[in-house]
Amino acid sequence: MVVLEVIITLLVADFISGLFHWLEDAFGREEWPITGRLVTQPNILHHHNPRYFTRHGWFHSSWLLLCLGLLVLLCAWLSGFLTWHVWLFVALGVNANQIHKWAHRSPVENGPIITFLQRIWLLQTPRHHAQHHTDPKNSHYCVLTGFVNPILDTIRLWDALEAVIWSVFRVRRRTDNSVVVAGETFSG
Ligand SMILES: [Zn+2]
Ligand SMILES: [Zn+2]
Repeated sequence: MVVLEVIITLLVADFISGLFHWLEDAFGREEWPITGRLVTQPNILHHHNPRYFTRHGWFHSSWLLLCLGLLVLLCAWLSGFLTWHVWLFVALGVNANQIHKWAHRSPVENGPIITFLQRIWLLQTPRHHAQHHTDPKNSHYCVLTGFVNPILDTIRLWDALEAVIWSVFRVRRRTDNSVVVAGETFSG
């Protein structure tokens, strides 16, 4: 039973990582205050130069998620729901960027333990994540494991959410200017 709860918590954390990633990729704007500089600009840079962030240390990549994680812990504690599931969820969420970074590193850079965890599919593999960096870069948003993406992409969840946002708010997803269109890179 505990094993099942661990797996479900992992899958939920993976889904949330994908939800935030999709929001960043589809609707984040560079010019927005705070999130533009902290989230969208690094995100756009990552689509143009996927290996750039691998030179950053853990804190550089994770401090913002650490702040969000502490906020989740505080809210859970204040509302009396601070179970081990929340701790595990936060631990995974705080490390989402780090796990994403591992998917851009070679086995030599990652070392034997991380490489082993990727090989047994407990962590997302570089091969799996490479599909997110394949044009048109609108799938495989979850970054923790390889299990949630195939489900969400098969049911076309992100397309459906974008259609809902368009019909309700008349907002379309932004153009990903790292996507090559008709042989040329978009520049707008
Ligand atoms: Zn992305
Ligand atoms: Zn990536």
